[in-house]
Amino acid sequence: MLVARKLLPWVIFTGICLALGNGNAATSVAALLSRAEAVRSSDPGEFQQLLVELEEARPNASSAQRDQIAYLQAYRQSYLGRYNIAIPALQKLARDATTVETRYRAGALMVNGYAVTRQFTEGLRQLDQTLELVDRIEDTDLRAHGLGVAAVMYNEIGEYRLGLHYAERILANPPHGRARCFAGQYRAEALWQLKRLPASDAMLRDAIQHCVAEDEAVIANLLRGTLARQWASQGQRGKAIALLQQHMPEIESTRYARLVGEAHSLLAELLLAQGSLVEAERNARAAISHGPAMPHSQPLVAAFKALYEIASRRGDTAAALDYYRRYAEADKAYLNDVKTRELAYQFVRQETAQKTQQIELLNRQNQVLQLQQRVAKQNAQNTRLVVLLLLVVVAGLGYWAYWIRRRQKALRRFAETDALTGASNRHHFTQSAEQALAQCARNGEQAALVMFDLDRFKEINDTYGHAAGDWVLREVADACRSFCRGIDCFGRLGGEEFAFLLLGCDLAAATRLAEDCRVRLTRIDTRPSGHNFTVTASFGVSATASSGFGLEVLISHADRMLYRAKRGGRNQVRAYTPDMPIAETSRREEDCEQEPAQIPAFGASAP
Ligand code: GH3
Ligand code: MG
Ligand code: MG
Repeated sequence: MLVARKLLPWVIFTGICLALGNGNAATSVAALLSRAEAVRSSDPGEFQQLLVELEEARPNASSAQRDQIAYLQAYRQSYLGRYNIAIPALQKLARDATTVETRYRAGALMVNGYAVTRQFTEGLRQLDQTLELVDRIEDTDLRAHGLGVAAVMYNEIGEYRLGLHYAERILANPPHGRARCFAGQYRAEALWQLKRLPASDAMLRDAIQHCVAEDEAVIANLLRGTLARQWASQGQRGKAIALLQQHMPEIESTRYARLVGEAHSLLAELLLAQGSLVEAERNARAAISHGPAMPHSQPLVAAFKALYEIASRRGDTAAALDYYRRYAEADKAYLNDVKTRELAYQFVRQETAQKTQQIELLNRQNQVLQLQQRVAKQNAQNTRLVVLLLLVVVAGLGYWAYWIRRRQKALRRFAETDALTGASNRHHFTQSAEQALAQCARNGEQAALVMFDLDRFKEINDTYGHAAGDWVLREVADACRSFCRGIDCFGRLGGEEFAFLLLGCDLAAATRLAEDCRVRLTRIDTRPSGHNFTVTASFGVSATASSGFGLEVLISHADRMLYRAKRGGRNQVRAYTPDMPIAETSRREEDCEQEPAQIPAFGASAP
């Protein structure tokens, strides 16, 4: 675990050069940024100078470039250990930066900051947020950088399975140079802790070789430490001691306290096991001298334990007791630290599980709401369908009622009308006339009846054919209609006999109308029938004033007058007056008195 902890500050100070320049920004800003990215870990002096220049050039920078400047400023603050300044700036960037890359870099740097300042809970929370962005990062090196931070963090808190997972994700799509060297170390550390390192040392040797090639002495020697432990565990203690002793000058030259402390502590353990007490003591003391740089660490515990055992073996009880006390204190502090880290992990996982549950609950509620909405929509649709159906039914019923009405009207017209002439048939004429007369009687109005019969119609039929007779009947009915007002009744009583009931007319007016009608019939032009002849009719008129409001009597009086007109020579009008002496003869009797048949060419009115 100590190995991983040693990497934390190192990860911060190892830069992965990233070209995040914005093509739209002024070239000078882009160039300054590019240079600053390149030297940020290798040349702190130049980096500082470039940051000053970038601050001056800030007004010319695009918003993405400004974010990048802010990131580099925070990086510098982290480098100087001023996490109280760096972390708030990084929080803002991780939340608001224009590009996802800057948000991701800021998040990763913040995780390191939290780890170094031992704020594991915050670090793990931030790590979760940063890892959410990883799939949106296209640059392999930048993606590896974030995954590396995750691997270090999980190794650091003892979650080696996760550490291994992220290390292997990096190596599955290997980045270039140094990042690959780091990933090799994350993997070796996790595998060692999980006791899953392959028996062969090929993998470790390969990883060391890669780091040596990249001139990464610290990482190469951390890997050598792991290799030494593996050899020792395989019973090759001498080989392990030789490896560490051989590289100790190089290790010390790195002046990286944690690496130096761990190497001496491990060497002390191995030398003590071999019985080289003096050498073991020297190395244990060397390890303890780096104690302040690695408090609460396992190498410190191991160094005190070695000193205690050396003192015990020498029989120096007082020293042994003192070292034992310090060993126990270091061990307690170390275990407390381990527990703190484990607790932080459990806390964050619990928090995440709670959040996931809440999200799940909200999703379920959402699903229920969506279902309710769907049901409501379905209901509305059903209602619409029912309404539509009802409308169709109502429209159908309406049309059916309309059709029935029309049919009824047509049937009624058919029943009331004479098919040949279109005039009312006798039945309908009688009904209408009786109703109208009753109304007149109630209102004290007068009315008159005009009847006429075509003269010598049989002869027309016989001479010109039945069709010509039909044609005459139609022409006569059409001509008569022009003498009829809406309130009057006009009908074909049978054969070639027609009648008008004229409402509000007295005998004189009706006689005038009959006379006009008589003249009109004589003027019918028969040539369209294909023949040329004259149509005449004989008219009889009666009125309510002298015949009363009974239709039968009115017809009877008009009928007699009609036959009197026939007898009088046809083609004339005869009106009934009460003072008129009427022979009480029947129509048949009058018929007997008829003159011989002839078609009149001219007729005259004879009151
Ligand atoms: P008059 O002047 O005395 O009334 O002589 P008329 O020939 O008109 O009288 P008559 O009663 O002898 O003849 C009526 C004829 O009317 C007989 C019949 O064939 C004819 N007639 C009746 N109904 C129709 C019809 O619908 N079409 C045709 N073409 N002729 C009809
Ligand atoms: Mg006739
Ligand atoms: Mg007749």
